[in-house]
Amino acid sequence: GTPGGPKIREEKIRVTVRMRPLNRKEQAMYDLIAWDCLDEHSIVFKNPNQERPAIPYTFDRVFAPACSTQKVYDEGAKDVALSALSGINATIFAYGQTSSGKTFTMKGITENAIRDIYECIKNTPERDFVLRISALEIYNETVIDLLNRESGPLRLLDDPEKGTIVEKLNEEVAKDGHHLRHLIGICEAHRQVGETTLNDKSSRSHQIIRLTVESFLRESADRVKSYIASLNFVDLAGSERVSQANTCGTRLKEGSHINRSLLTLASVIRKLSCGKHGHVPYRDSKLTRILQSSLGGNARTAIICTISPALSHVEQTRNTLSFATSAK
Ligand code: ADP
Ligand code: MG
Repeated sequence: GTPGGPKIREEKIRVTVRMRPLNRKEQAMYDLIAWDCLDEHSIVFKNPNQERPAIPYTFDRVFAPACSTQKVYDEGAKDVALSALSGINATIFAYGQTSSGKTFTMKGITENAIRDIYECIKNTPERDFVLRISALEIYNETVIDLLNRESGPLRLLDDPEKGTIVEKLNEEVAKDGHHLRHLIGICEAHRQVGETTLNDKSSRSHQIIRLTVESFLRESADRVKSYIASLNFVDLAGSERVSQANTCGTRLKEGSHINRSLLTLASVIRKLSCGKHGHVPYRDSKLTRILQSSLGGNARTAIICTISPALSHVEQTRNTLSFATSAK
C-alpha cells in the first residue's frame, strides 16, 4: 500500500469486521477456520473444493484474529469517538452473533475511548469540559436503567426540543476518568443481573452506555462557543435474532424470539447508508428512537461487526457479512 498505510475515509458510517480467534471449545471439536483475511480490507471464504475462488467481501477495515483491541479501536472507532469532543454526536456499535466477541470488543473500545477523551481534555486547556454518563438496557422492548437498577421499566417521551428522551433515566457527572470507569463497572454488574435466570437474556438484550460531553470556551462569558454531543457505546443483541426473522418470515411480536430493535436498526442503517432521503423507520423500535439523534444527519457511526472464524458458524458469519455489506 501507500506509505503509512491506506487512508481511512471520513465517512459517515464506518464499517469494519473483526474476526476473533477459534475458542477452546471450537478447537476441542476440531472445528476449522473457514475464512481468510486477505489484507486489511478484505475477507474471503476458504473453499478448497470450489473450482473458482470465492469472491471476497471488502470493508473499511478487516481485523484478523491476531489484531489487538487497541488496533480495532485506533482504526475502527477512535476518530468517531473523539468527534464527540467537538460537538458531533457519535455511535459505536458491535454487531454479530452471540459469542462472536461483541462484549469483549465494546469493553475494550470503551476503555480506549475514555483514556483518549481524558487525554484530549488535558490537552485542551482553553475549554472546560463536563462529562456525564447514563446507561440503559433494552430487553424485549423494555428499557431498564443500568445505573439504578431499582427504578423499573422506563418510558420514552417525545420532547419538542431534545427529541426522544428516556423518562427518569439517571445521569451522573463523571468527576474524572477513575470515577467514570467505576460507574461503568456498576452498569456492567447490573447488566449481568438475571442472566442466569432469564433464558437467553445476554443474547437478547442491547446495552447503551451514553457519554454526554459538554464544553465551554473559558474566555467567552456568553457560552456561545459551547459544544454538546452524545457518544454512544452500543453492545447489541445477538444478530442471529435478525436472521431468524429473515428466514422464518415470522411477524414481529412482543416476547417472541425476534428482536424488534435489532431488526429496525438493521433497516435504519441500510436506509442511511444508501444515502437516499426517504423514510427512515427510527420510530419502529425503542433502540432506534433512543439513538435517533446520534444516527444519521451529522452524526458519525462506527459499526464493528464481530465474527467467529469457525466453519460451524459459517451461515451466521455470512449473515453478518451481508449486513456489513449493506451498511457500507
Ligand atoms: P458476545 O458478546 O458477542 O456474545 P463475547 O464478547 O462474550 O461475545 O465473547 C465470547 C468469548 O470469546 C468470551 O469469552 C471472550 O472473552 C472471547 N473473545 C471474544 N473476542 C475475542 C478476541 N478477539 N480475542 C480473544 N478472545 C475473544
Ligand atoms: Mg455479549
